[in-house]
Amino acid sequence: MVDRPGKIVCVGRNYREHAAELGNAVPERPLIFLKPPSALIGDGETIVLPSASQRVEHEGEIGIVVGARLKGAGAAAARAAVGGIVCVNDVTARDLQNADGQWTRAKGFDTFCPAGPRVLEVGPRFDLDGLEVFCRVNGALRQHARATEMVFGIPAILAFVSGVMTLEPGDLVATGTPSGVGPLADGDVVEVEIPGVGTLRNPVRSQAR
Ligand code: MG
Repeated sequence: MVDRPGKIVCVGRNYREHAAELGNAVPERPLIFLKPPSALIGDGETIVLPSASQRVEHEGEIGIVVGARLKGAGAAAARAAVGGIVCVNDVTARDLQNADGQWTRAKGFDTFCPAGPRVLEVGPRFDLDGLEVFCRVNGALRQHARATEMVFGIPAILAFVSGVMTLEPGDLVATGTPSGVGPLADGDVVEVEIPGVGTLRNPVRSQAR
């Protein structure tokens, strides 16, 4: 579980194959959006599929916990401010995302931000390029990518965001999802694994049940 971040900043379309699978171009600069902290749940807690959506999808992602205040930072300062790594699932109501044209509702339902099972604290010598992320549904592999496949790397993302809004210690930054996103159904169990960090596992239930 992540300890009450002041904000959750996410990056969209940060892997080429994922942008392509949804018919989108790769952005020229990081495409950022916010998820509300009220969406956070921890390892083992239940993702609730809201009745307003007919298609809720998993997005396994590498999450960064900010370790130091960043404002208008360059890449080196941003790199030094990476305080921790955590598995994140940027759960998304894909039909509502497409219908609304902006993403607040689609990304913001309660339980739509599982994060955990722990934050791996890292220092400046930690090898960010060695990170990779897997997402499985009911044990079947749906997504896998290495951090080196990101369009914008982790320091570049933090630097860009810090030029827009001050990043505070404890803020959570989700760095985008690889290709392979797909629907979640009542009764599923979805896992996001970052080797060396852990496996975030969440059951899925329909709101009606
Ligand atoms: Mg995402």
